[in-house]
Amino acid sequence: MNICVIGTGYVGLVTGACLAEFGLNLICVDNDLQKIEGLKQGKPHFYEPGLEELVQKNMKEGRLRFSTSIREGVTSSLVIFIAVGTPSNEDGSADLGAVEEVATEIGRSMDGYKVVVMKSTVPVGTCRRLKKLIEEAQPHPIPFDMVSNPEFQREGSAIEDFMRPDRVTIGAESEQAVAIMKDIYSALYLIETPFVITTLETAEMIKYASNAFLATKITFINEVANLCELVGADVHHVARAMGLDGRIGRKFLHPGPGFGGSCFPKDTRALSRLARDKGYTFQLVDSVIEVNERQRERMVAKIREKMGELRGKTIGVLGLSFKPNTNDIRESPSIAIIKKLLEEGAKVRAFDPAAMEEARKALPEIEFGRDAYDVAQGVDALVLATEWNQFRRLDLGRLRSVMGKPIFIDLRNVYDPEQMRRLGFVYCGVGR
Ligand code: NAD
Repeated sequence: MNICVIGTGYVGLVTGACLAEFGLNLICVDNDLQKIEGLKQGKPHFYEPGLEELVQKNMKEGRLRFSTSIREGVTSSLVIFIAVGTPSNEDGSADLGAVEEVATEIGRSMDGYKVVVMKSTVPVGTCRRLKKLIEEAQPHPIPFDMVSNPEFQREGSAIEDFMRPDRVTIGAESEQAVAIMKDIYSALYLIETPFVITTLETAEMIKYASNAFLATKITFINEVANLCELVGADVHHVARAMGLDGRIGRKFLHPGPGFGGSCFPKDTRALSRLARDKGYTFQLVDSVIEVNERQRERMVAKIREKMGELRGKTIGVLGLSFKPNTNDIRESPSIAIIKKLLEEGAKVRAFDPAAMEEARKALPEIEFGRDAYDVAQGVDALVLATEWNQFRRLDLGRLRSVMGKPIFIDLRNVYDPEQMRRLGFVYCGVGR
């Protein structure tokens, strides 16, 4: 089967490479010429573990190619996945500009029956609206099916998540479309992946409800952590014991500087906005957004509390991406915290194993180190902001010996407070 994926970002390229690995023929399209030029050389423009190898393998085996032409993608494929970005507008709603532009071009290019699959996260009702847009753009009426197939992959483990998903959600209106989608994902039947077949609107809602729930879980444990600090309890043990309850589950119970990244912040805002547009106040999600914002302030307050006045002080920051194993800095808590530290007059030196290039553009005023020890050289405090594996087993003796002052602020609770204090650090974690 020939498939086109439009948008070669984190989701589109992983989708394209993984579907090619399933044995399907893929053409991946992007309107960014530079990205496509790089991909034609087998080089993705972002870091995702295993992706470059998977792209090169499938290119070599002749199942994966790249283009800047939507028309070429549409005319040569039965199924067209839309995987372009849906960032936030000023008012919190999702910006559907790219999605609409692509849908119009798909309509103009249609030359026979197609299945148009929405992979991007879009507000409930979007697929039905896009269906009309495509119909209006068609040169003459051509039958097609619209499908909502939201993506749940996590950056850093996107390939594994795509190849072994917890479930596949398919919102569709025709049996033919469902059959084609099941055929695409037939490799997943071997591993007994559950399929949820439902309507367009329900599939769209599943994505937002899932992300908002996960964001709520993170925010909940952050609030518990904040209270733990005030009552002298250890959130680490609280979260572990809570998580052992099968009804709660262990995941997403790690306190820290608040959620970030390209999905949770914008998707919670879009869900809140969607509710408001329908005359409903989604109070819980509104609070999650507010508490998450406040959590970043709390982290800066924590740093201030240990260091005193920040003006003129030098702070080392370990980790810039919003989570480990990605170079994505979109709405990264680390970047937000650094900006606040700079506003208060501190100097910042930072290191990240993959996100330095992106961070340089966002934070031209900070210095970058070669590694954790280089960053720590002479600093007044060191802040661990993103829990990359490289930062989990630092040579603490060496670190302490190069730091100007031994203040270690561990926003990810990687280190044991007792051990750190024994080693002579002034240590501070979150909620313990
Ligand atoms: P991204 O910004 O990394 O990629 C979007 C790509 O689309 C870019 O390469 C861009 O050049 C391209 N593009 C934009 N307009 C275009 C156009 N008119 N024609 C052709 N190409 C165009 O975004 P992403 O992180 O891959 O997210 C895509 C969607 O998937 C979003 O809706 C997001 O919410 C959702 N999603 C993302 C993740 C994630 O982990 N990043 C996970 C699940 C769902």
